[in-house]
Amino acid sequence: MLAGSVEVRGWVNSVRRLGGIVFLEVIDGSDLQVYTVVIKRSENPGAWEAANRVRVGSAVVVKGEVPGVQVSRRGVEVRAESLAVVSEPIDVMPLDPSGRTPALLDNLINHRYVALRIPRQRAIFRVRALVVKAAREFLERHGFLEVHTPKICGAGAEGGATLFRVDYFGRTAYLAQSPQLYKQMLMCGLARVYEVTPYFRAEPFSTVRHLNESWGVDAEMAFIEGPEDVMKVLEGLVLYVFEYVRSNAGKELSELGLEVRAPRSPFKRITYDEALEILRGRGCKLEWGDDFGSDEERLLGQAMVEEGYDAYFITDYPWRAKPFYIMREGQLSRSFDLDYRGMELASGGQREHRYDELVRSIREKGLDPSEFAFYLEAFKYGMPPHGGFGLGLDRLVMVITGAQNIREVVLFPRDRQRLVP
Ligand code: ATP
Ligand code: MG
Repeated sequence: MLAGSVEVRGWVNSVRRLGGIVFLEVIDGSDLQVYTVVIKRSENPGAWEAANRVRVGSAVVVKGEVPGVQVSRRGVEVRAESLAVVSEPIDVMPLDPSGRTPALLDNLINHRYVALRIPRQRAIFRVRALVVKAAREFLERHGFLEVHTPKICGAGAEGGATLFRVDYFGRTAYLAQSPQLYKQMLMCGLARVYEVTPYFRAEPFSTVRHLNESWGVDAEMAFIEGPEDVMKVLEGLVLYVFEYVRSNAGKELSELGLEVRAPRSPFKRITYDEALEILRGRGCKLEWGDDFGSDEERLLGQAMVEEGYDAYFITDYPWRAKPFYIMREGQLSRSFDLDYRGMELASGGQREHRYDELVRSIREKGLDPSEFAFYLEAFKYGMPPHGGFGLGLDRLVMVITGAQNIREVVLFPRDRQRLVP
């Protein structure tokens, strides 16, 4: 911050009065900058008068000088020439906006807008925005076109139980649990697409990594030879995001007390069978074909960390553990998950692009092909081999910011208990 005149528009996070001097800690609306506004009665009786009455939480506009020599330890010092209170709280502040008195997560969520005045809280959401920016930048450089597919749908990707129903002019519609079907249909006309999108899932989750409305970065690419082509893009994307945050979020990371280190690459690749072997070796009783639950994911994460890998792909899942659209290979499937220290970040794979095989797969999963007629239609007109992934944005932000609960990185989380704010 250069010396000279400034205008600070922000909120008062704390007030200290010391004889003839008032110190206001003001956070400005734009980034993480905290200002220590100094108002002396001897120099500026009018502003001092106003400052003496100002309350924590007020929105203010301060005009003043940043002196050449800084004495304040916290924040850039501003010698105020004028102070205008543009809005005052009409109720008791629900939490301490300076962040010195810690607040419970519930309270941070209930009053998120005020919590965002706490530098640490604001840092999390600034990092989140950078993650999205980096993801877009990477995908666009690799020829992916951003698309937007409908969120009110006539059919879900994986069947009924996990779908939110909506009344659509007397017909039943569903909130999209993913853009899966649409992004695949687009492969019949565009070769590379991506979408930053909400996922709506109606399961009664009660974990620290599931929400009923979450966000993902979904990508789909055509003319691939196998799942490895997709994994390379996903790995590149994740590494790019880590590196982008590391080099563009210096202030935010130091506010969070974090060092961001990109996971060791190339990411480890293990097959489902190898993972099963490791898990059985650690005492898990698993049948071949079972999907891994959160306990197994955690154990596998430990095993990988011991080998020096934070991020790793699990490939070749049994077909029965994966949805109908994944390409089958005997009892296996051309699928992968990307996990980070025991938490799933993404799922993907090569899709079935052959019409007849796809119809057969839909039937085998106990679904009715006629309900997917609109989707199947796109597979009649030169659908190329393709694949893609869905990457959990909230979870990626969790691992980058070190959050333990997904609710810390989502402004207004939606879970079973929470529909407002
Ligand atoms: P999980 O097994 O962890 O419940 P999933 O396999 O059901 O996830 P996918 O359908 O593979 O989820 O979705 C792609 C990615 O989106 C997941 O890897 C995860 O990162 C994220 N995701 C999926 N569902 C949720 C959710 N309910 N809350 C937060 N993130 C989610
Ligand atoms: Mg998955």
